[in-house]
Amino acid sequence: MPPFVTGEMMTAIAMTEPGTGSDLAGMRTTARLSADGTHYVLNGAKTFITGGVLADRVIVCARPAQPTPEDLRAGITLLIVDTTSEGYAVGRKLDKLGLKTSDTAELSFSDVRVPVEDRLGEEGKAFSYLGQNLPQERLGIAVGAYAQAAAAVEFAKGYVREREIFGKPVASFGKPVASFQNTKFVLADCKADVDALQAVVGRALDAHDAGELSAADAASAKLFTTERAAVVIDKCLQLHGVYGYMMEYPIARLYADTRVSRIYGGTSEVMRSIVAKSMGL
Ligand SMILES: Cc1cc2nc3c(=O)[nH]c(=O)nc-3n(C[C@H](O)[C@H](O)[C@H](O)COP(=O)(O)OP(=O)(O)OC[C@H]3O[C@@H](n4cnc5c(N)ncnc54)[C@H](O)[C@@H]3O)c2cc1C
Repeated sequence: MPPFVTGEMMTAIAMTEPGTGSDLAGMRTTARLSADGTHYVLNGAKTFITGGVLADRVIVCARPAQPTPEDLRAGITLLIVDTTSEGYAVGRKLDKLGLKTSDTAELSFSDVRVPVEDRLGEEGKAFSYLGQNLPQERLGIAVGAYAQAAAAVEFAKGYVREREIFGKPVASFGKPVASFQNTKFVLADCKADVDALQAVVGRALDAHDAGELSAADAASAKLFTTERAAVVIDKCLQLHGVYGYMMEYPIARLYADTRVSRIYGGTSEVMRSIVAKSMGL
């Protein structure tokens, strides 16, 4: 734990597999316990793993036993895998649309020996551990979406007021873009959206602080903030005209970076399923 906490040790968590994303219970990576009970033998592959290229230790979800037809989640276990172990390999560093500052990798395990002491928690409890912690991850993504939407409005406000080409305001009729009623209305709508996002995130943070953030609350916060932030960021990019499409402008990078927030940490469709279930539907 000490080097993990100080940041000297890089870590990653590997759940997703080439054939298993939203439906984690379908994972195939196996972790067979050795006959003498001293270690697991890990075989399989993971993909889209954040920090996978640089990680020193990876928490891998694997199956010591085959699932039962009644419970596909049965047996899934968390193992802390040393990335210098024999049989551990990092595949491609994947080329993403955005989030260029974080690496995303393919991993493979071929008879990797993992000491039983490096099992995280009890065997077969992975889903329960993940279930307890995914709401916090989703809250983090919701906070990020709010912050990105707020930043987009600031970028757009700055652009429409100040952007000049050859010393002249950018828009026709010698007026800055900010002077058009449409610009004011669009930015006013965006500001109202950011206020709503802040309220949703604030409520979820309060619930988290009180230890009361339910899976459905976190899913609802992630769903609303990421979907709404996408609309705000798109509108703010539009106000930049073609400059919004150029990576040298921060709004372009924000547009690319924010797209994944509706996919990772559980897709918007999965968030809707969680919320609907909590409504008894
Ligand atoms: C940048 C990035 C970083 C990531 N980091 C990690 C990481 O560190 N560790 C890790 O384990 N994973 C990571 N992932 C993987 C991520 O968690 C998965 O991509 C995500 O869970 C979705 O899985 P999938 O892409 O296989 O989509 P799929 O499950 O194949 O879904 C495809 C489409 O079907 C929809 N769908 C699926 N099931 C249902 C359903 N029941 N009802 C309705 N619609 C449904 C989805 O919403 C989606 O629109 C990362 C992904 C990205 C892009």
